Amino acid sequence: MNYQSIILPHIWNLKPYSSARDEFKGKEGIFLDANENPLGSPLPVSWNRYPDPMQWEIKEEISQIKGIPVDQIFIGNGSDEAIDLIMRMTCAGSEHSILLCPPTYGMYEVSASINHVSIISVSLTQEYQLDVPKILTSIEENTRIIFICSPNNPTGNKINRADIYQIIQQFQQGFVIIDEAYIDFSDEPSFIVELEKYPNVIVMQTLSKAYGLASLRLGMAFAHPQVIQILNKIKPPYNIGGATQTLVLQALKNREFLINSVKQINDAKNTLISMLERIPQVIQIYPSHANFILVKFERAQELFDNLISQKIITRNRSNVALCESSIRITVGLPDENQALFQKIKEFYS
Ligand SMILES: *Cc1c(COP(=O)(O)O)cnc(C)c1O
Repeated sequence: MNYQSIILPHIWNLKPYSSARDEFKGKEGIFLDANENPLGSPLPVSWNRYPDPMQWEIKEEISQIKGIPVDQIFIGNGSDEAIDLIMRMTCAGSEHSILLCPPTYGMYEVSASINHVSIISVSLTQEYQLDVPKILTSIEENTRIIFICSPNNPTGNKINRADIYQIIQQFQQGFVIIDEAYIDFSDEPSFIVELEKYPNVIVMQTLSKAYGLASLRLGMAFAHPQVIQILNKIKPPYNIGGATQTLVLQALKNREFLINSVKQINDAKNTLISMLERIPQVIQIYPSHANFILVKFERAQELFDNLISQKIITRNRSNVALCESSIRITVGLPDENQALFQKIKEFYS
């Protein structure tokens, strides 16, 4: 694949900032290169030294977990950083466009707007699937990215794999980003296994959901080594703080937590669904491959306000096209889900 035609020329030709810690890799020595405070930090643990700009230790762990070489892993300050960087490396403001399929994750549009990139919207179908023919006819000459979120937020369903293959086979003029933030809750295999075959694909995952590390801010992008090299070149040099690196490394060594939490959350989700099915004012519960469910209620707005007034916070999506009268509910602990169920019942009684 000829990436030079997709990457903006000034990015392609950019000479990256060389940080002090890029030039000397050892851990031992007298460090007088980075203007750090040699006395330490006003904390029990010292964070006075700059962190590893390339996050090698984390990448090696992720490489093992995901079965992908380290040179195909980019680590960002949340997936949001990866979304932003991919946009900035391919789109010169309104000269280029991205294509997205609402209802979907809001950051694609926000990031495009911040970067003044044009947005082509092709709604999902009534079944929350890709409208492949419409997507293919809506692509313009200067379209550089197609965003596919699977399992999709806020609808919770997975996108038909055959449709995704069609898009990645047909769209060769830019990148197809497959956002797999919720993949750990699904039985669907990751598209990481297809990167070899489809060099125009970028897969995104995050530690914010199933891994239980939202506050540490760590998102991953998996792609061809050449694409990863460019992302590394344009990221802020120390985009992942040392505290995050230390804690994430510890967390990744505990493989049990992920397996257990996915199982418990999926069990709790099924229990919550069967409870909600007993409420007559529940119009529809959409199938979910994530850790949340989209539920269509009678008087959704009123219900949402009522829940908030009792400090039960859900996500009102009832003003979003194709999600009319629907509320997105994150699966909580069993007793939290039970409390929610009781309050919904009381509201309708
Ligand atoms: C939650 C979520 C993310 C995660 O974003 P982070 O910045 O990594 O916390 C990414 N994509 C989707 C669709 C999400 O719902």
